[in-house]
Amino acid sequence: MLSIRHLSVTYHHGNAEVKALEDLSLSIPEGEIFAVTGPSGCGKSTLLHVLAGVLTDYNGEVRMDGRPLSPQQFSIGIVPQQYGLLPWKRVRENIVLPAMLRKDEIDAAELESTIEILGLSDLLHRYPRELSGGQRQRVALARVFLQRPQLLLLDEAFAALDMLTAEKSRQLFLHLWDKHRVTTVMVTHNVEEAVAMSSRVAIISGSPGRLVDVFEHPDADVIR
Ligand code: ADP
Ligand code: ADP
Repeated sequence: MLSIRHLSVTYHHGNAEVKALEDLSLSIPEGEIFAVTGPSGCGKSTLLHVLAGVLTDYNGEVRMDGRPLSPQQFSIGIVPQQYGLLPWKRVRENIVLPAMLRKDEIDAAELESTIEILGLSDLLHRYPRELSGGQRQRVALARVFLQRPQLLLLDEAFAALDMLTAEKSRQLFLHLWDKHRVTTVMVTHNVEEAVAMSSRVAIISGSPGRLVDVFEHPDADVIR
């Protein structure tokens, strides 16, 4: 269980202050895809930055399995909107480097099957600039699943793709996710995407962003 209690975030710029999130509390069950949606500026990225551990100046409490959530304590996988590939590394290195840097063992069979499922077999020697947007995104998906994260964060992960490519990517993501069932928090401004991919959808709105409601999918397993 990932538990967010009374989370408030204020950005400081000189003597200007921007309140981004106000008293947000959420319980995110283990092994589910939990979506957070809401209009631009409501604090979705801010929430994700807190969960990722890159924003540590907040009020409130964020715990996973009862322990404070931090990248030092938990393996947290992130699929950023622009995919975050290393431009000077080929696809293969982009996929395995993060796991290698963490000194995780990469299971060769799993590597091969992930590459196969994502249709990346013929692209392993290319550089990111030689890939389409959809292909880059699939490299980011391969990389994050091979990291075997305990928490997976998707930041508008499908937003930069055209409609058909995005749909294909969502299906591939769900296929891989189904094998691992890693607790996932996805942030998207696309309400339909949130509803289609997750078992619970939290809606944040306003400035500062506050929780409006959490909807539970009546039959989460059927949609997958
Ligand atoms: P969303 O992802 O939902 O669009 P954000 O979390 O990016 O929302 O932003 C929430 C609010 O915080 C907005 O008012 C935004 O302008 C402000 N904000 C975001 N990042 C910063 C920052 N680094 N410095 C100051 N204000 C910020
Ligand atoms: P996808 O639907 O897989 O994302 P696209 O339809 O965008 O792929 O691209 C079709 C083909 O064009 C791909 O096989 C890809 O290799 C190639 N391609 C697309 N963009 C580039 C690029 N910037 N450089 C090299 N090849 C590209």
